[in-house]
Amino acid sequence: MTKYIFITGGVVSSLGKGIVAASLGKLLRARGFSVAIQKFDPYINVDPGTMSPFQHGEVFVTDDGAETDLDLGHYERFTNTSLHQVNNVTSGSVYQTVIEKERRGEYLGATVQTIPHITNEIKARLLKAKSQFNPDFLIAEIGGTIGDIESLPFIEAIRQFRLEEGIGNSISIHVTLLPYLQTSGELKTKPSQHSVYVLRSYGIQPEILVCRTPVEIHKNEKEKIALFCSVQKDCVFECKDMKSIYEVPLALEAQNMAGVVLKLLNMKDKRPNLASWEKLVDKIKNPKGELTVALAGKYTELNDAYISVVESLKHAGLEFDRKVNIKWLASEDCKDTQKTKELLGDVDALVIPGGFGVRGIEGKLNAIRYARENNLPFLGLCLGLQCAVIEYARNVVGLDGANSTEFDENTKYPVIDLMVEQKNVAGYGGTMRLGSYPCHLKDGSKVQKAYGKKIIEERHRHRYEVNNEYKKLIEDSGLIISGSSPDGLLAEVVEYPKNDWHVACQFHPEFKSRPEEAHPLFKGLIKAALNRKK
Ligand code: GLN
Repeated sequence: MTKYIFITGGVVSSLGKGIVAASLGKLLRARGFSVAIQKFDPYINVDPGTMSPFQHGEVFVTDDGAETDLDLGHYERFTNTSLHQVNNVTSGSVYQTVIEKERRGEYLGATVQTIPHITNEIKARLLKAKSQFNPDFLIAEIGGTIGDIESLPFIEAIRQFRLEEGIGNSISIHVTLLPYLQTSGELKTKPSQHSVYVLRSYGIQPEILVCRTPVEIHKNEKEKIALFCSVQKDCVFECKDMKSIYEVPLALEAQNMAGVVLKLLNMKDKRPNLASWEKLVDKIKNPKGELTVALAGKYTELNDAYISVVESLKHAGLEFDRKVNIKWLASEDCKDTQKTKELLGDVDALVIPGGFGVRGIEGKLNAIRYARENNLPFLGLCLGLQCAVIEYARNVVGLDGANSTEFDENTKYPVIDLMVEQKNVAGYGGTMRLGSYPCHLKDGSKVQKAYGKKIIEERHRHRYEVNNEYKKLIEDSGLIISGSSPDGLLAEVVEYPKNDWHVACQFHPEFKSRPEEAHPLFKGLIKAALNRKK
């Protein structure tokens, strides 16, 4: 039988509800329970795939090709699972289903309304996840902040669902903020009290409060929050700002959060196995050295836009007991050879992440050229591969003005072009080549050695590819296509064998890196960077 855990947020957004959900998932998994985590986002976009990363951070991609909220990345990394389309629900997708049903006449003449039709569809999504995974626990995180108009149907659906599933089979966790007033040295509880009042006015009394705070919460403050918010004293948890998000599960375990959750759900507690996670956190806290990786992208003002890439770099660093510092570069800053040399002169490696559109492309090409000519370890991801190919075509093969048709439709040398199956695609939502596809690696290549196998599966999100008409020319000039789709038609990985690590892939390895199991391509990059540093 599945037990349900609902997580809402109060006072402000960006409280780290996703980290709390992922951490609780981790603690339950460490006890041997099966866990599924689902994110409900109140916006009207059918999925975040059409949103600018400036709006909502990175778009995470699952094996089955869903474009999802970045919290799913946290869920996967903390619980070491692979999630699916069903794990991410938006208002847009709920309304889309309901409106399509209405158009098909499935509501038999009824007036279609928020209650019960939208709320029923939300509950159906919970049940769909339950039947797909049949987990011991289904954790459902509701995006946004309590009090938002947009999230009301979700909260109402949870209220109904909790009644229908029976007392003792679900709990509600409210993640809230305790602001600290520097001048009086006080933690203030009033905003949290108000947030819980509002939640209660919707018919939901939370059993647990998780309080984000910059300082320790004293016993008397906890008692006050418990009294005013009507929760038991041992159900108020402190979630202090931490250096690493990976410390959060251990901080919550130290307060016995999972034990309390299990008690509230009438389940017997088990001894958790957190030994390897503790080792991980110990490594994070006590690195044997540091290195700096330049990340040159378009959305560098918002670090969340590249969160999986940054986490993957950290994971790979940990494999070598090193802390990875990121030097954020706006690609446009790499204006010319001199400026690029100044910016990259003091880094140990370069990463060019995925992206869309022409802005910043010339800077990326300058950065890649510098890396290639100076044997600076380089990893290109998706757009990063396309740029690596353009750079090589222009500066080594001699195809002056080579480009992608994404950036210049009339380029004389379209070394990157729209994939054939994309040519007749209309519309932007969910229409790219998405999700997991197999890739065959060339025997003896750097990537094949890094993976230690010949066939891999990685996640994709792109419309353009290396133009087959230029493959031979490029390979003959020394940039090797070391990974291809099984039919050999699509270049998936390129590498420049003369350098220690000059590798780029059409897929997104960052989505499959785990804190306890770094990704081979990121490990390859960090290893080369450390060798160079020596
Ligand atoms: N814009 C490129 C394409 O669509 C790269 C996409 C990406 O980096 N995710 O192919």
